[in-house]
Amino acid sequence: MKAIGVDLGGHNIAAGLVAGGSIEAKLDEPTEPARKPGSVIAQIARMVRTLSGGEECPVGVCIPGGLDAARENAVMVTNFAGWNGLPIRRMLEDAIGGCVAIENDANAYALGEGFADAGAAKGADDYVMVTLGTGIGGGVVMGGRLMTGAHGMAGELGHMVLGHDEPCGPGCRGLGHFEALCGADALERKAAEMGLMGAGNSLKDLWLRRGEPGVAAFWDTALENLARGLASLVHIFDPELLVVGGGLSKGKNFMALLEERVPKYVGEPFRPTLKIRPSLLDTDAPIFGGACCALSLLSRRRSSG
Ligand SMILES: [Zn+2]
Repeated sequence: MKAIGVDLGGHNIAAGLVAGGSIEAKLDEPTEPARKPGSVIAQIARMVRTLSGGEECPVGVCIPGGLDAARENAVMVTNFAGWNGLPIRRMLEDAIGGCVAIENDANAYALGEGFADAGAAKGADDYVMVTLGTGIGGGVVMGGRLMTGAHGMAGELGHMVLGHDEPCGPGCRGLGHFEALCGADALERKAAEMGLMGAGNSLKDLWLRRGEPGVAAFWDTALENLARGLASLVHIFDPELLVVGGGLSKGKNFMALLEERVPKYVGEPFRPTLKIRPSLLDTDAPIFGGACCALSLLSRRRSSG
């Protein structure tokens, strides 16, 4: 059965018609600049209609924020003013018709890697996905199911406490969190403080300059912190594999250099089975994840009559 996955981002909305484990057709549009709930939902409904060609098809929308446990309401959508507390799922279903599911985008990313034919976690029942982007996101799939927790917010892997009093970003404000140490935003800030970021430089440029002495020390610390975070996840979840994605992970040799550092932090019984894989789907992962959520909601509704 076909399903549509929609990845709502602050700048772009990507949507795909998923059939089996692959994408048949895809649309990508800039998000309505005001990001008002009514206009964004209308835009998503338009995109879905174009992709479905009027045929009924379950839809899963990935939301860049926290959702309640029932996956009905937005709890906190950081970069979308006026969305917090709204019954987003119902509003989308009213606009689109048929069956609409919502999921947090990082969770959907994780589900997508297991759902798509070409996903890094295809066939795995127990895996953890970590995305190294502006912040650090992730999702945990155990026994083939996404872990959502008592309040819907499990799997916030970027907010493990690994440091001391480094402040986490707006919307969190906790101290010493994983992403406050090694999310791209935090790394950029740190590099600027150390005087390593030249004008117009990006973290990507800094990765290319990692042979320079000051820069090498900077990346050494970042990779060690990332390795410590990944090792903790291995101990907590005992996954079949850890999938790592996001912008940072795409630097040349980044994954190889990171992987090399993880085993020393991992306890002996976990070392023989330690498996780290790069994400294979990139920006398509949430589309697959959305489609996966749509299909499971539809089957839950059918089985409950
Ligand atoms: Zn945090």
